[in-house]
Amino acid sequence: LLTLRGPAGPRRGAALRDLGVVEQGALLIENGVIVQAGPARRVENLAAARQAREIDATGKVVLPGFVDSHTHLVHGPPRLLDYEMRLAGRGYEATAQSGGGILASMRSVRSWTASHLKNSAIATLRRMAACGTTTVEAKSGYGLDEASELKCLRVAASLDNHPLEVVPTFLGAHAVPPEFEGRADDYIRWLAGTMIPAIARRRLAVFADVYCDRNAFTLEQTERYLDAARQAGLGLKLHADQFTSLGAVALAAELHATSVDHLEHVAPHDIALLGASSTLATLLPGSVFHLGLDRYAPARALIDAGAAVALATGFNPGSSPTPSIPMVLSLACAQMKMTPEEAISAATINGAWALNRAATTGSLESGKQADVCILAISDYRELPYYFGAPLVEMTLKRGAVVYRAHEVPWPENW
Ligand SMILES: [Zn+2]
Repeated sequence: LLTLRGPAGPRRGAALRDLGVVEQGALLIENGVIVQAGPARRVENLAAARQAREIDATGKVVLPGFVDSHTHLVHGPPRLLDYEMRLAGRGYEATAQSGGGILASMRSVRSWTASHLKNSAIATLRRMAACGTTTVEAKSGYGLDEASELKCLRVAASLDNHPLEVVPTFLGAHAVPPEFEGRADDYIRWLAGTMIPAIARRRLAVFADVYCDRNAFTLEQTERYLDAARQAGLGLKLHADQFTSLGAVALAAELHATSVDHLEHVAPHDIALLGASSTLATLLPGSVFHLGLDRYAPARALIDAGAAVALATGFNPGSSPTPSIPMVLSLACAQMKMTPEEAISAATINGAWALNRAATTGSLESGKQADVCILAISDYRELPYYFGAPLVEMTLKRGAVVYRAHEVPWPENW
């Protein structure tokens, strides 16, 4: 039983390697909440345990359900033309400039109905549950006009607790829409002055996010957008240093942003800054892998500097179409030299911190939600080791089974 019990606050340094392991552990769950987590002998002796329905996980690994703190959950169809162009040697940014990219997704999202978008998102959430995920952030940012952004945020809100937890983020500053072509400053002014206050007033988002990079938004535009978001009471997130470093990390630290995400091109002085900052460093190795690039975020340097590192899928139709946190853990270990323990902490308790949900999820402790993943392996190091393998046996959200493997039994004499 990996409880992930530990010090208050996001895990850093050596604390990232402490999974709070209980050999022969057990959990007692009541009304979706963990009542006890500890040695099986003690938990099973509790009076309430005697009437409990038992889920036998003997010989298996049990850990907190994954918290996927960076996804673009609500979007249209997969971008298969972009994919083929890239396989033929075109870069991600060049693909975007020739009619693909974020604006290709924007055109589908604008034309799709809310129920079409919702059904597509549910299919993704089911895949995520099958990969052990129980809490998912969901960014807007493919609508890029008022009606379509609101449509996507309402879809995200309608998915919350049915049955996974969905945390909505407004990413209006994802790309400049055609209506504002060549007028990025005007677009930011409209987002900051009209959209952010309206979304905060309707409580349609918990966070605001902005894409700060070349071919996206400048540092100055980023600051104006985030200032408006902070004044409206939204938490702050940034897509930072994916292709170039424009100074977004220093801005994030100054504004006490909840997280800076990507960081493939983070500068050495910004690594030191994150080590001393409350802002989480969320790494998305799935996008580096899928784009066929070789420069991963410097996870080792970040951890050694004391940064609180989180891992997420970055699920999106352009650069990271994976719903699988286990695959992300394999990439984190093989490509970024994180240890299995660090990777697991980064995708559970630190993912919860990256969504301000650590009081209720991310570890298996009494009083927290029973968000649980059961793996068909006997040593947690097998999780990143068997990359791409379906190892999840069962996923529980607030004590309810939301995924179960092996629906078809294989009898011995098949
Ligand atoms: Zn993203």
